[in-house]
Amino acid sequence: MMQERPDPLPGPGQIRLRVEACGVCRTDLHVVDGELPNPKLPIVPGHEIVGRVEALGDGVSLKVGARVGVAWLAHTDGTCPYCRSGRENLCDAPLFTGYTRDGGYATHAIADADFVYSLPEDADPVATAPLLCAGFIGWRSLKLAGDGRTIGIYGFGAAGHIIAQVCRWQGRRVFAFTKAGDSAGQAFARSLGAEWAGGSDEKPPEPLDAALLFAPVGALVPLALAVLRKGGRVVSGGIHMSDIPSFPYALLWEERSVSSVANLTRADGHEFLGVAPQAKVRTTTTPYPLDKANEALDDLRSGRLEGAAVLVP
Ligand SMILES: [Zn+2]
Ligand SMILES: [Zn+2]
Repeated sequence: MMQERPDPLPGPGQIRLRVEACGVCRTDLHVVDGELPNPKLPIVPGHEIVGRVEALGDGVSLKVGARVGVAWLAHTDGTCPYCRSGRENLCDAPLFTGYTRDGGYATHAIADADFVYSLPEDADPVATAPLLCAGFIGWRSLKLAGDGRTIGIYGFGAAGHIIAQVCRWQGRRVFAFTKAGDSAGQAFARSLGAEWAGGSDEKPPEPLDAALLFAPVGALVPLALAVLRKGGRVVSGGIHMSDIPSFPYALLWEERSVSSVANLTRADGHEFLGVAPQAKVRTTTTPYPLDKANEALDDLRSGRLEGAAVLVP
């Protein structure tokens, strides 16, 4: 529902930005569907925000007019054991953009100055927005996958299509898994350097070192374990997933592992924003005007999108 509100005022340490573009992430679907606990309600979703600094709160030294990005991690306490051990992604008292703080499906947004990312003047806001979650989470997932050379990617959407390009740049081999029969998605994956693409129920031509799961489907966990070589890792990048069906221990044995990625640290974000231009990542996007946000969410839900949807106010 579109609503007129007064422009928000930045508090101490905060900025207000004028939104230039905001990516649509699968997590936004989980937020609007009520699948995540304790959201701020009503909530403005959106956590892949590209915008211009418009107003500064007390104590902020950013330049008015500078282009910045705002991502999922909006605030941390800085004092809990996780923050103090370099794991602020697991903070005990965090805020998340577009979930527990209003996000970027809007003309303006508030952000903590310490949590925004400087972006180049010549950046294309629409092309850049998906990097801020799909890219960051994809990058953290790939790091957790270790240094294996053969990488399976389950769910070839916003995150998959970005991280496949990073894998290729690193000299890794990419195997893409889509919904069974999604020949368009498989062709899209091949066009971005996947050497093999097939349905998630299919076996790749050889066992893989790691599998990244970007689809919210728990049944993929045993399927992915079954295509890994010994010591292989399954990393789930999503915040929500349907239940994982029980599976024989033999699939996990031989030191295969299953892990999840939760949120991201600012260090992940800064690191990835350095990697993306080196890897010459090109995002595939479908822009929607802001008042078509529900249409964009529907298209994401039904899998009609290639790459990422991005809202433009
Ligand atoms: Zn996201
Ligand atoms: Zn903390």
